[in-house]
Amino acid sequence: MSVNTEKYKEIKVELESKKVQLVAVSKLKPISDIKELYNLGQKDFGENYVQELVEKYEALKHQNINWHFIGHLQSNKVKYIASFVYLIHSVDSLKLLQEINKQAVKNNKIIDCLLQVYIATEETKYGLDATEIQTIFDEVQKGNLNNISIKGFMGMASFSDDVTLVRREFQQLIKISEVYKITNPILSFGMSQDYKLAIEEGSNMVRIGSLLFGARN
Ligand SMILES: *Cc1c(COP(=O)(O)O)cnc(C)c1O
Repeated sequence: MSVNTEKYKEIKVELESKKVQLVAVSKLKPISDIKELYNLGQKDFGENYVQELVEKYEALKHQNINWHFIGHLQSNKVKYIASFVYLIHSVDSLKLLQEINKQAVKNNKIIDCLLQVYIATEETKYGLDATEIQTIFDEVQKGNLNNISIKGFMGMASFSDDVTLVRREFQQLIKISEVYKITNPILSFGMSQDYKLAIEEGSNMVRIGSLLFGARN
């Protein structure tokens, strides 16, 4: 048993007192681990890879799970998850959002999305800058993306021990979110190593993997 159920319960209490939602990041972890946490009441799970998500969805179809897609998403793979995905956190281009919209139309549904904001100083992280975000909202305004709903923003800070830097990056996300008048926006930031900081800076949805499921290979 690699699931740290004690830690889970501790984090749940901590988050509930602050009205922060928990997405349990189960990427690269077995279905048995998901079931274990599900049986403790966890409904929201996050995955990074399309094929893995589809396999887990199929295996756990009869559970009432909200599947969050949090990894980099290639446009040509949206079709595999469109019918069941609960929230896509990682929209990092207009082209991707247009494809999500197209697949949502095909499935006769609205797909909820977050815009991934580029906040880290590391070159390796995906995300949109302020101009690209504005362009997306302009497209929405024009009525070209009626089958997606932008619920808020997501970000990943630099993987760094520099608390000041990480705080500044989170504040950048908050600043961008305040430009757009989304009602009760979802602000998805904070992972195992920085979720406490993230909550202090205004996150209301954290994505935690290794603290719950142990380190990944
Ligand atoms: C893997 C991942 C997480 C969880 O990371 P941990 O450090 O294991 O908590 C959160 N968000 C994204 C986008 C990830 O890829």
